[in-house]
Amino acid sequence: MNLILFGPPGAGKGTQAELLIEKFKIIQISTGDMLRDEVKSKSELGKNAKALMDRGDLVPDDIIIAMIEKKIKMSDCINGFILDGFPRTLKQAVELNALLEVLKIKIDRVIQIDVNEDLLLERINKRASESVNIRNDDNYKILKNRIKVYKNDTMPVIQYYRDLNKLCTINGMQNIEKVFQEIVDILWF
Ligand code: AMP
Repeated sequence: MNLILFGPPGAGKGTQAELLIEKFKIIQISTGDMLRDEVKSKSELGKNAKALMDRGDLVPDDIIIAMIEKKIKMSDCINGFILDGFPRTLKQAVELNALLEVLKIKIDRVIQIDVNEDLLLERINKRASESVNIRNDDNYKILKNRIKVYKNDTMPVIQYYRDLNKLCTINGMQNIEKVFQEIVDILWF
């Protein structure tokens, strides 16, 4: 089973990915994790990506696509995978399609964990205004930027899958168990 999981920062996407891996014994392909590994190992790629990641901006498409291509071709993807944090732009989605066509791999479901982004921003603003810690305020600014980037760059990707009739949307404003149950119900269907 091959899945794509969408959700803005703060929607609980990571938690749901973990639960899905456990239940379906598939692997998670997280471009965010792969980039963090590159940063940790101080590779050239990691050095270039770090400043963008620190601001919550996107890393260039070509870098991400090359990384994903290498990973998907690796044999540990054979039982299935969850794409987490990818594709994040229309270009990435189109390139992913082309790659999967060549490899004869099918995406079974595209799942959007939908949360009210205005509410997320409201929460962030409230916490920032209550915080006396400058570092926290910095983090909130980054989170706000990440949500903005999600809206501008990733919402069109979600629309792309909706137009292809591949998208299932889950109400992410429910508790973790309920969200997970709804995802599982969709996958059994
Ligand atoms: P994440 O852990 O998925 O939220 O990713 C952390 C950061 O890595 C993001 O804020 C981006 O800077 C970068 N990143 C991760 N995935 C992608 C992607 N598919 N395209 C561009 N940048 C990405």
